[in-house]
Amino acid sequence: MCGIVGYIGHRPAYEILIKGLHRLEYRGYDSAGVAMVGDKGDLNIYKTRGKVEDLERFCHAKDLDGNIGIAHTRWATHGEPNDVNAHPHLSHSGKLALVHNGTIENYNILKEALEQQGCKFKSDTDTEVLVQLIEYIKTTNNCTLIEAVREALKEVIGAYAIAVIDTNEPDTVIAARKSSPLVIGIGEDETFLASDATPIVDYTDKVVYLNDDEIAIIRRGEPLKIITTDNESAEIDIQTLKLSVSQLEKGGFPHFMLKEIYEQPRTIRDCVRGRIGNSGGKVTLSGVIEHSDKFLNAKRIIIVACGTSWHAGLIGKRLIEEATRIPVEVAYASEFRYSNPIVTPDDIVIAISQSGETADTLAAIQLAKEKGAFVYGVCNVVGSSIARATDSGTYIHVGPEIGVASTKAFTGQVTVLIMLAMAIAQIRKTMPKEEITKVAGYLRRLPDLIKQTLKLNDKIEHLSSIYTYVHNFLYLGRGYNYPSALEGALKLKEISYIHAEGYPAAEMKHGPIALIDRELPTVVIAPTDELHEKIISNIQQIKARGGSVIAVVTKGDTSIAEIADHTIEIPDVPECVSPVIVSIPLQLLAYHIAVKKGCNVDMPRNLAKSVTVE
Ligand code: GLU
Repeated sequence: MCGIVGYIGHRPAYEILIKGLHRLEYRGYDSAGVAMVGDKGDLNIYKTRGKVEDLERFCHAKDLDGNIGIAHTRWATHGEPNDVNAHPHLSHSGKLALVHNGTIENYNILKEALEQQGCKFKSDTDTEVLVQLIEYIKTTNNCTLIEAVREALKEVIGAYAIAVIDTNEPDTVIAARKSSPLVIGIGEDETFLASDATPIVDYTDKVVYLNDDEIAIIRRGEPLKIITTDNESAEIDIQTLKLSVSQLEKGGFPHFMLKEIYEQPRTIRDCVRGRIGNSGGKVTLSGVIEHSDKFLNAKRIIIVACGTSWHAGLIGKRLIEEATRIPVEVAYASEFRYSNPIVTPDDIVIAISQSGETADTLAAIQLAKEKGAFVYGVCNVVGSSIARATDSGTYIHVGPEIGVASTKAFTGQVTVLIMLAMAIAQIRKTMPKEEITKVAGYLRRLPDLIKQTLKLNDKIEHLSSIYTYVHNFLYLGRGYNYPSALEGALKLKEISYIHAEGYPAAEMKHGPIALIDRELPTVVIAPTDELHEKIISNIQQIKARGGSVIAVVTKGDTSIAEIADHTIEIPDVPECVSPVIVSIPLQLLAYHIAVKKGCNVDMPRNLAKSVTVE
């Protein structure tokens, strides 16, 4: 998920572009760059690894002329975050510059074809293919920039929002989108474009939201023109922005955490995209396919992780054991690294980390490699240390997570682990095809199911006011949802500072039941599954001791509604997928309680997003 800005008008472009990039930095911040057509018609391009402030330092005392330009802040998907892979990318001749948000799925095929035609590539990105292809078409067909862009986009499979400038047509910016957002701001003799409206709102409140398969032709001194990739002219629907700058910075949400909770229908769609067939049930994880012999012959899997990722690992254990019959152990990376673990070359070690920089997990990986294990990474940040240190892996692709308490990364990790279990089962033939097809069908439906679940927000906000000032909370769950109970409790602890414990529901009677009284609410995760009857009796045991119960149940479950104090109804999904859905109300409950207590939910005390220390 990257941020794009563009400008053409009468003001110095550089200031507008940099200010816009700062606004979009939440979308990615591993490198940044600008390209401007200078007053003499030359192309000035500056890009560097790091944040927008690093770019500003880099640009100091450079030629920043011109009132037309494009800019980008990157969150790498293809190619590590470095200076060369930073956008804008230049064409072979150096005359075209392009910024891109999205992923080009068929970039390898296109790249090979262009290389055969003599194109030299500088970066490892999928993006560079676009700019090279546009120039190639422009030169071979001897056509205009707009024609070349239109033709090029017909060849491309994937998601994109792009902006292109060309020194041969110095008064034009061409922009286009498919699946990635792009907003055009219409001012007095000036036009802006950006991934969201934040970079635009200071200058104009008139905006046009570009639709999929539309191409915007922005020319100095001319009204905006929009055509479709089929060369039909499209309607221009100018809307008035209603949001204030401060709201927009978090996309209209009061906190990044809430925004990230609400992003989950999209992040899960991104996570499964290209990995689950549109029809049928095949799961395609290239990291598994490329090393199928390892997965075929593995005697054991050891998952190493910390914090929320460790909870995802516990769910992964059940998933993988169920689907593949390979025994799986789950270890805290910090314990594993100092435990003289028994690891052999027949083992696969799966390392899970959102940032890909977690120091303990990295150390566990080194140890596992020394002992000859094959190491597989499940990370969010492309090009991170763990992504580079592992033999293979799968990115969760949920975009930058800014809120310190993990939300969308957790659901992304669980989703990848579901796919991983299915992918290994396909190789080992340990699961009937119909079963895989069924789970794959639910994975495809997950974004919509999450969307439905998010409708619980108002109810949960109301619930949170009843429990804002309690001092302790208990979370219980069984089976796949025992780790969900641990994660629900961790979320509440992290951001509200309320002590909370997660427990396997049946273990309650071996200790925690002593704590139950009117002061201790219990969240019981009780979707309808094979242990449903058992969990009902756990709820009765709590009620008999005067405790209050918030039960997360499957829609339509009346049996629990009769005994629990409150029920939260979630959609009916198979057990193995339910931790993803269950986590949504638990995230919302923690969030609303913390907000009501006046806590800083995005930056809770003592915590950091990426734990790079021991
Ligand atoms: N795929 C492009 C890159 O890796 C753009 C990244 C994005 O928009 O997430 O540079």
